[in-house]
Amino acid sequence: MKKRSGGLVYSTELGRTCPTCRRQVGACRCREAPPPPRADGVVRVGRETKGRKGAGVTIVTGVPLTGLELTALAKTLKQRCGSGGTVKDGVIELQGDHRDLIVTELTKRGWTVKRSGG
Ligand SMILES: [Zn+2]
Repeated sequence: MKKRSGGLVYSTELGRTCPTCRRQVGACRCREAPPPPRADGVVRVGRETKGRKGAGVTIVTGVPLTGLELTALAKTLKQRCGSGGTVKDGVIELQGDHRDLIVTELTKRGWTVKRSGG
């Protein structure tokens, strides 16, 4: 029986580490990272009615803003629509169906906006 040296095993493992995060391939999560929300540069304004009351909620995704800027935009949209809303995981949700108004507002900012949903 051939005895394997610890050093050899170690160097083999080194060769299988991710060049980005330097973790071993099995522990690397780089390839699992989701693509950025604005990958195609299009802001989508849709509607979600499933499990919601009345007109449901207007969903805005792909907005090229983050953090405070996104929160500020959501606040502006809430004021325009005169309704409540939230920001969650980079997605703006507004109570009720305000797609026309929001598409108009966001287009003014120079973004490519697409209306989706029924
Ligand atoms: Zn990695």
